[in-house]
Amino acid sequence: MEQTALVLISIMNLLLVIILGVLGFLIYRLFKQKLPAQNQDTPAEPHYHPDIMKRMKDMERLRPKRSDLFCPNHPDEPGETTCAICDRLFCKACIRPFKTLHFCKEHLPLIMKNEWEEVFTLKTSTHDPEDGVRLYDAKKRLFEEKNIPTYVETHYKINVDQDFIETYLVVFSIPENIEIVKENLQS
Ligand SMILES: [Zn+2]
Ligand SMILES: [Zn+2]
Repeated sequence: MEQTALVLISIMNLLLVIILGVLGFLIYRLFKQKLPAQNQDTPAEPHYHPDIMKRMKDMERLRPKRSDLFCPNHPDEPGETTCAICDRLFCKACIRPFKTLHFCKEHLPLIMKNEWEEVFTLKTSTHDPEDGVRLYDAKKRLFEEKNIPTYVETHYKINVDQDFIETYLVVFSIPENIEIVKENLQS
């Protein structure tokens, strides 16, 4: 009697193990099928937040401007350095260092041939970097709209008393343009 009960319990245990095994396998199969199925649910064009979609479209519109990042003389060469006069980006072969700045082949002779004078100095502070941005904007406009060349040097001065470095943006112009440069930069 006891033996029969033991055999029955053993069989039931075995059945339980088999059932659990089958169940586990079925659950495993179900998940395995479901995972790729979920991936198929994702459409080829994923759904993004409308704002993100808009931003992506905006960025696409910017894409043609990427040609600006290439040298105007060598469309295959990426631009590396900006000319301090015209602000265009040139490849290594098209730009030369001079003093602390770089100049394109067109504007290097302009730098060499003329005497340049300091016209305007702006003390920049890290608290208000906008000042510097405005100065560079004005300098760029002078060249693009009025064809008046200037370049901006960055000068650093160590303030010994207070032990910090002061930064100055110094605008240079050729003598004949000094007045008009001053007028445009002071405003
Ligand atoms: Zn240039
Ligand atoms: Zn080039």
